[in-house]
Amino acid sequence: MLFVAGVAEIAQLPPPGLPEIAFAGRSNVGKSSLINALTGQKQLARTSQTPGRTRALNFFALAGRLALVDLPGYGYAKAPKREAAGWQRLFHDYLRGRPTLRRVILLVDARHGLKPSDEEMMERLDAAALSFQIALTKSDQCGESALEEETAALAEALRRHPAAHPEILATSAKTGRGIASLRAALAALAAPL
Ligand code: GDP
Repeated sequence: MLFVAGVAEIAQLPPPGLPEIAFAGRSNVGKSSLINALTGQKQLARTSQTPGRTRALNFFALAGRLALVDLPGYGYAKAPKREAAGWQRLFHDYLRGRPTLRRVILLVDARHGLKPSDEEMMERLDAAALSFQIALTKSDQCGESALEEETAALAEALRRHPAAHPEILATSAKTGRGIASLRAALAALAAPL
């Protein structure tokens, strides 16, 4: 896996090439951990810790067939207003204008379910007609029945979102649950060999 670019302004976007899958979610949802588990790399995505990578879209190339895009975590109350507005615009411009963006994987903490900021994101994705799929993170922190209830509630909520992919994946970076399924979903969107 190859780090291609950290993009803080729309003018810096790499030219569209490989099919892209973007990962979005609230700060602390477990996005870095999941990306690392998915790609089998220990410390590739460190969006919350690495200075300079925090508010950028980070592009990684996977085996020359797919680009994975790590979007900045949202719902982070401490970001200064001006900065927040700047990256929201970048986010918005990227989501609306990227012909190679195939799907957004929207991460939701299995323990917490959908928050208003997730709803906002889903509305944006609907408006951009961008296919998105929910992956629940940290499923190891939930009992099986709680997980089933959460999944059913989510499935119901997704019916109101035309851009939503109906399948909800339960994942855990800790136990590896759902990682193979997510990898398979991504492989299906990759450029042919
Ligand atoms: P990010 O801010 O969305 O990139 O989230 P991180 O990947 O940095 O994870 C945030 C916190 O959740 C860290 O303390 C992780 O150790 C923890 N975490 C991430 N994934 C899992 C998981 O699958 N299971 C458990 N139990 N904790 C996790």
